[in-house]
Amino acid sequence: MVKLLEALAARSLVDGAVKCTGLVALIVGAHFAVDYLLDGRLSMPPGELILTTTLVGAPVLALLMAAVAHFSRLEQALAVTASTDMLTGLPNRRAFFAAAGEMLEAGQEGLVLLVDVDHFKAINDTHGHAAGDICLRAIADHLRMITRKGDVVARIGGEEFAVFMPNSPASAVPAIEQRLCERLSVRISQDAEALLMTVSAGATTVQSGDAIERLLTQADNALYRAKAAGRACLVVHRQHDTVTPFQKRA
Ligand code: GH3
Ligand code: MG
Ligand code: MG
Repeated sequence: MVKLLEALAARSLVDGAVKCTGLVALIVGAHFAVDYLLDGRLSMPPGELILTTTLVGAPVLALLMAAVAHFSRLEQALAVTASTDMLTGLPNRRAFFAAAGEMLEAGQEGLVLLVDVDHFKAINDTHGHAAGDICLRAIADHLRMITRKGDVVARIGGEEFAVFMPNSPASAVPAIEQRLCERLSVRISQDAEALLMTVSAGATTVQSGDAIERLLTQADNALYRAKAAGRACLVVHRQHDTVTPFQKRA
């Protein structure tokens, strides 16, 4: 029923006019059929029947189709808002869990990365929160640039990002690290000097049957080691490492 209503939605003026004409023709046809079935003859002359049915049916249908189109646009906008991080335009935490969960269910292998901006609090404290926001957008662009089509990049917390890289083997890690952890230069205003930033990351390889929470816990532990190793690097989780649970961050 919902699919039928969606099909009724007017996608454009021409689309609406075509659908409306088709539906009015259907209603007129039905009117003829019902009249013949009930009385064996038309209740009014054919021309009058077509005219009255069209005059009543067309505006009602046009209104209905416009309303359905409006609500389906509203529904799409709501779905985008619910799954998008408004600051960076990246998928949010909820969307990442949904996308990663689907890929894992489909048996997808690859790498999961947890990426955290280095010394980000100092950027906020020195240059202000608005400058910090500009930096977060720059990091998001950087992640978009260095990932491939099919990778899922999301902002899952304040200055934390997660990446699911399907089909990326562990052997790709050095090349990923080189691109990911290079020093970024971000200009926060025309007259200010560019800020230099780096990220640290933890990575883990996806094994069949893994759950995303477990993979993020492993990546988080590797990230912790990357921070301890001096930052601006990517550390891979080793399967025999003990892990402490991944903390949910705002
Ligand atoms: P580390 O290198 O160990 O990761 O240090 P850090 O300073 O990056 O980490 P810390 O957890 O101490 O600070 C993270 C900061 O990120 C604190 C918080 O105010 C800031 N932050 C979180 N969300 C946002 C945001 O949306 N915009 C801005 N501008 N700052 C944010
Ligand atoms: Mg952090
Ligand atoms: Mg940080």
